[in-house]
Amino acid sequence: MNSDRTMISTDIDFDRKGLQFGKLRLPHSVHRSAYGHIPIPIAVAANGEGPTVLLTGGVHGDEYEGPIALSRLAREIDVERVCGRIIIVPTLNQPAFVAGTRVSPIDGINLNRTFPGRRDGTATEMIAHYVTTELLPRADFLIDLHAGGSSLQYLPALLAPRWSDPGKAARVETLVTAFDAGNVIYFDSVRALSGEDRVIGNYADRNGVDFLTGEFGGGSSVNIDGLAMAERGVRGVLSHLGVLPAEKAPAPRKGPIRRLAMDDPGLYAFADRRGFFEPKFALGQTVAAGAVAGLIHDIDDPWATPVAVHFRSAGIAMCVRTFSLVEAGDCLGHLASEI
Ligand SMILES: [Zn+2]
Repeated sequence: MNSDRTMISTDIDFDRKGLQFGKLRLPHSVHRSAYGHIPIPIAVAANGEGPTVLLTGGVHGDEYEGPIALSRLAREIDVERVCGRIIIVPTLNQPAFVAGTRVSPIDGINLNRTFPGRRDGTATEMIAHYVTTELLPRADFLIDLHAGGSSLQYLPALLAPRWSDPGKAARVETLVTAFDAGNVIYFDSVRALSGEDRVIGNYADRNGVDFLTGEFGGGSSVNIDGLAMAERGVRGVLSHLGVLPAEKAPAPRKGPIRRLAMDDPGLYAFADRRGFFEPKFALGQTVAAGAVAGLIHDIDDPWATPVAVHFRSAGIAMCVRTFSLVEAGDCLGHLASEI
């Protein structure tokens, strides 16, 4: 037996034609449930010949546009019209989703900082390992839907990997066009923020899976514009790939695609002390280089002059912190520059 074999079992047969709604059983033997497991919902729609598209939401448990968009897609799929296979996991980190928290309440781990995971690790590590060893090897494409979570609010945007390889870049560009979001941020999906490579995009690439993600809202709420963008985008890509019929593609959006980058560290503002944060920018606003991102007020001394934090570079405001209370190192927001 393969020693790397997952300990997560499922009632889904990935090779069966038709529409299946099932569960991934995450082993969870605890005081109140000796032989228990945590069921993670999964749906698979397979029919005819075509690529496999993996769709994930709820990697962070306090993000809701992805779970809504993906569960609705699964409920509405006409499997007879599918050419290929769609694997849908709307709430991948189900324990975190039930708790409404970014990280898992079981082990305190951020699923999207724990790839490739471990078969005999904690609950979150086992989920990551399942994605790495069972889901990504079956997939040709991955769309992983995110939002800012409780602490951040985003201007809804598709995120696409930036490749120097012209072939890869061209493939991504056809997916971006099919997703048809008004804002697209190109980023390093292999290393993500601050050089983090424990992210799903890195392991998608290692499996030869073309990858899109996005930030469709935040603040542990549902952004209706972001939800609409995610729903249109996923259906547009599925139609573009021929997995859903072409006539099911959403009508083209009016207006150009705004293409952005967010690699420059000067686009980010971080708190350098504890206090409470007063933002000085609004999402979507154009911000000049050196502009004040906001003021950090002293918690204990209302008469103390608040301290200004600046954006060093210019750009469009894409993300703002939702919680006013800050500690040193907290992200207060970020911009993206047009390319
Ligand atoms: Zn997220």
